Amino acid sequence: MATNTTTPITVVGVPTDLNSSFIPGAALAPTSIREALHSPSTNLSTERGIDLGAHPGWADGGDLDLDDASLGASIDRGVSRLIETGGRVVALGGDHSITFPIVRATARRHAPLTILHLDAHADLYDEFEGNRESHACPFARIMEDGLAGRVVQIGIRTMNAHQRRQAERFGVEVHGARGVPAVAGLGLEPPLYLSLDLDVLDPSCAPGVAHPEPGGLTTREVLSIIQDLPHPLIGADLVELNPHRDPDGLTAMAAAKLLKEILANMIDSHNLPGRKQ
Ligand code: MN
Ligand code: MN
Repeated sequence: MATNTTTPITVVGVPTDLNSSFIPGAALAPTSIREALHSPSTNLSTERGIDLGAHPGWADGGDLDLDDASLGASIDRGVSRLIETGGRVVALGGDHSITFPIVRATARRHAPLTILHLDAHADLYDEFEGNRESHACPFARIMEDGLAGRVVQIGIRTMNAHQRRQAERFGVEVHGARGVPAVAGLGLEPPLYLSLDLDVLDPSCAPGVAHPEPGGLTTREVLSIIQDLPHPLIGADLVELNPHRDPDGLTAMAAAKLLKEILANMIDSHNLPGRKQ
C-alpha cells in the first residue's frame, strides 16, 4: 500500500470479515465508506469547518496487506509501520476482531491507553462458537493482555450473565444506551483510543450492520460524543459496516460522517475544550 510517512494521520482499510460470527460482508466496508466519503451528494467539510478535501494533515493510505493465515499479526504489522514514526491511524474495518491487533500495536507505543468503546455489544466473550479471535471477543483479549488502563463502553444493550462477569473481572466500565453519560464527565485521560462499532447506532440510523440492535443511539448523539472528546485521539477504528445489509448506502454515509468528525478531532486538537497543554 502507498504510505506517506510524513503525514501524521492515515486512514487505512482493514478489509476482513474472517472472524464475523453471523453474516459476512464487513470486508467490503472500506470501499463503501470511501465511496460515501467522496460522494458528490455531500462534501468533505466537517461540522467545525475543516475542509478535509484540502487539508494536508491526513491521507488515505489504502488497505492494509492482510494475511488470512496470520491475520492478527498482519494487522499489527501494518499499523505498527504507520505509527512507529509518530503517525496516528484511523482504521476502517472490517469486523470488530481487528481492534485487538490494532490496540496491541498502539499500546506498544502509547500506554496506558484509555479506550472509549461505542457498541451495542460488550464484545467481552472469552470465546464465541469456539473462536477466541471472534468479533465478539476483542475486549476480552485486550484486557487479558493488559493493553488498556481503562475501558469505557457506551451504548451496550445486549449484556448477558457471562459478559457481565467478564466486565466485572476486567473492571470494564459499562454504560447502556439508556442514559448515555456526558463525555466531559467521564474523566477520559490521554492517550485516548476510540473503537466505534456502527451497531451502537439505532438501526433506524444505521441498518447496514450484521447485528442490528434496536434501541440504540442516534447519529447525532454519537457525533456529539466524538465532538465532545476532551483530548485528540491517539487512534481510532470504525467497524462492522456490512454493505450487503445497506442497500440505500445510508449506513455508509453515517460511517463517512463519523469518520469526518473523528478526523476533525485528530486534526483540530487545539480547539478541543479542556485540552491539556
Ligand atoms: Mn456490535
Ligand atoms: Mn463490536
